[in-house]
Parts: sequence; C-alpha cells; structure tokens
Amino acid sequence: MIKKIEHIGIAIKSLEAAKVFEILLNNPSYKTEEVTQEKVKVNFFKIGESKIELLESTDPNGTIAKYIEKRGEGIHHIALAVDDILSEMQRLKKEGFSFIYEEPKRGADNQLINFIHPKHTNGVLIELCQEINSNNH
Ligand code: ZN
Repeated sequence: MIKKIEHIGIAIKSLEAAKVFEILLNNPSYKTEEVTQEKVKVNFFKIGESKIELLESTDPNGTIAKYIEKRGEGIHHIALAVDDILSEMQRLKKEGFSFIYEEPKRGADNQLINFIHPKHTNGVLIELCQEINSNNH
C-alpha cells in the first residue's frame, strides 16, 4: 500500500541553502545525515506528516552533482511511503515499471528505498520508501 508523500527531495549545491528553508518553514532542520553510499549529505525538515529532504553532493561525480550540472538546482524526486517495499516493487514490476536498484537499499533517515526509473513517470523520479522497524506489517 502507498500511504502518503513521505518527502520531496531537493538538489542543492550547498546545505548553506538550508537557512532559506528554516526561515520559510519557520522550523529548524531536525536532522543532518551523510549517506556515504549515495555520496550525499542530507538535511531534513518536517512539515506535518511529510518532509523536505535537501540533498548536497559530497562528490563531484555523485548522482546529485551530475543532476545539478545537467539541470540545475531544484526538485529532484518525490518519495512515497509504502508499508512493504518488496511487495510494491513486485506489483509495479508486473505493471511494467523498472527500478534503479535490483534490491531496496538503506537510505537516509532510517528508510529502505528504491527509485522507479523516471522514463516510466514523465521524467519525475519517484522514490519508494519503507520505514525500517516500522510495526505496520
Ligand atoms: Zn529521498
């Protein structure tokens, strides 16, 4: 089951930009985390049930650095919370969607994640995420 928009990921050149979001949301970031595997530093803001995830590349050859080089800063992906990522991947594969990773990976903020290839979704990168240790199933 797809539950809600978990977060919106925004690619930025530097987490210095987090200050703008602090002022905009009138709320400080609740967490900064480095995901070494993905070569990003991530800053999280809560907005009700959803979050904004600011992504700064830690490597000039990382996916976020390349994305900014090609398309500039801006919205990078929309993440959907699911209760069971494996069963959603199976369901979507049957419908013809393909995924960036063969298996879900450990992402930031205690989530198992995978991305649907944006060729299926009008250029919008969609992330599926399942909270680790959730008691939802
Ligand atoms: Zn994300």
